[in-house]
Amino acid sequence: MQNDGANADDDGRQAPPPDAWNFAPNEALLRLSALSVRAVLGKVKSGIMADNPTIADSRPVIPLGHGDPSAFPCFSTAPEAVSAVAAALLSGRHNSYSSGVGLEPARRAVARHLSEDLPCELSPDDVFLTGGCSQAIEVVCSALARPGANLLLPRPGYRFYEARAGFNGMEARYFGLLPERGWEVDLEAVEAIADGNTVAMVIVNPGNPCGNVYTYDHLAKVAETARKLGIFVIADEVYAHLTFGKNGFVPMGVFGSVAPVLTLGSISKRWVVPGWRLGWIVTNDPNGVFQRTKLLASIKSYLYVTSSPATFIQAALPELLENTKKEFFDKTIDILRQTADICWEKLQGINGITCPSKPEGSMFVMVKLDLSCLQDIEDDMDFCCRLAKEELVVVLPGCAVGYKNWLRVTFAIGPSSLKDGLDRLKSFCLRHSKSKKVI
Ligand SMILES: *Cc1c(COP(=O)(O)O)cnc(C)c1O
Repeated sequence: MQNDGANADDDGRQAPPPDAWNFAPNEALLRLSALSVRAVLGKVKSGIMADNPTIADSRPVIPLGHGDPSAFPCFSTAPEAVSAVAAALLSGRHNSYSSGVGLEPARRAVARHLSEDLPCELSPDDVFLTGGCSQAIEVVCSALARPGANLLLPRPGYRFYEARAGFNGMEARYFGLLPERGWEVDLEAVEAIADGNTVAMVIVNPGNPCGNVYTYDHLAKVAETARKLGIFVIADEVYAHLTFGKNGFVPMGVFGSVAPVLTLGSISKRWVVPGWRLGWIVTNDPNGVFQRTKLLASIKSYLYVTSSPATFIQAALPELLENTKKEFFDKTIDILRQTADICWEKLQGINGITCPSKPEGSMFVMVKLDLSCLQDIEDDMDFCCRLAKEELVVVLPGCAVGYKNWLRVTFAIGPSSLKDGLDRLKSFCLRHSKSKKVI
């Protein structure tokens, strides 16, 4: 911008700068970036650019870090979903603001879609639309954060919850998931850390980062524990129906009459369109607890002071949910089953790495590093940075999911890239192996 002299005195002189400017950043936000998967992966990847200026490593970078397979043709979304969005846009009828809670036909469609797996029918009033599951988490954490409240979170876990709880001044407490029991919730730990200020516990099923799928019986126990403690369950079901092992998907909402459940979901993962930004918060609460405790009113209030998902995406939702063919879902599950198998088999033969259980759902598996087998590797972060630099393979260090010296690997990429990536991971471990020197 041109300085037109408006802030200068008659002789064209400007006032001297103040001793100090009044503004400063929100320090709480600066600390939060350590909890972001994107920020951690950015750090891991920075080595690739910085230290390979001239050498001709022409191999492609293999992204085993984040769970967004949308760039791989074998994971392209359903044609029905694309036509639904195109039709909504071309109709010219969805250019206005949406209501805070979401368009009625879209809320009705989500209620109908989720009711297929539930004992009682949901109503559109049970559904609130959000900008993806991320915004659903943001809304719920904001609605819950009264002074002194605490929220129980799984470890390892998806740290976006911790970030949103912390940003709202709510304390996060951790219960363990048990690797030797297929990453089930340590219910004794839940009871041990809960107190009169605990408002809710979070479960992620199918699991990120563990690839676990909980049985009906385990979820029943989770509900009983919540009831005993007087808390409700936040069920992150963003990977709903993405299961390919012995346990099928059971929604937590089935147990809504035992303890109330807020189900969070989105189209990001099952339809492989994370950029479309459409998700939901759904109440499974036949006893009306959320109404009585004013949690519903609090959620609605928050939705009125934030932004809504794009209207034409909301308008496309009924057609997207109703018209997507079974073949699309079957195809996605087939590929995930195939890539989970490849991942499991290839990980078995790698020195310095162990994998406690085969993934049965979602897009991830947790892998344990045995640093005593590896030479000159300090920790999980060091492992990932050097792997990225030397082999152009990007993997998420466990610290990003609250589990130091483990790795989270995604298998949701094209099968040939996956094989290539895991072979490079193997060469890396071999090259840094201690036993190699002894032989
Ligand atoms: C990806 C993910 C989300 C966020 O989903 P969006 O709909 O893309 O915002 C939330 N929870 C978990 C566990 C996830 O893996």
